[in-house]
Amino acid sequence: MADKREPTELERVEKLFAFLQGNVPKDCVIPVEEVPNLTPDQAWTVIWYLGNQYWQVSDDIGRCGKCGELYDTAIEGTHLEEPPYHLCGNCDGDYYEDDDE
Ligand SMILES: [Zn+2]
Repeated sequence: MADKREPTELERVEKLFAFLQGNVPKDCVIPVEEVPNLTPDQAWTVIWYLGNQYWQVSDDIGRCGKCGELYDTAIEGTHLEEPPYHLCGNCDGDYYEDDDE
């Protein structure tokens, strides 16, 4: 395992997603009362906002509307015109009949 490599965009966003839900990285020291404790939906809203308003987070990273996992939209997944809108690579198989391209 190469642990010196740069984290992927997906890994960086997953780390932020976890952080916003209270999972502080080992190399961060944050007083307990200042650790964020958002729900997954709230955490994703923050990430979406950062990606779309400040471009500090890659907007290539999406969140599956079915299972809630994060995924790299440049590599996997599907975008739909109707809910759940975004599907990761694990969930998009169920929607192949709904071929909109
Ligand atoms: Zn999924």
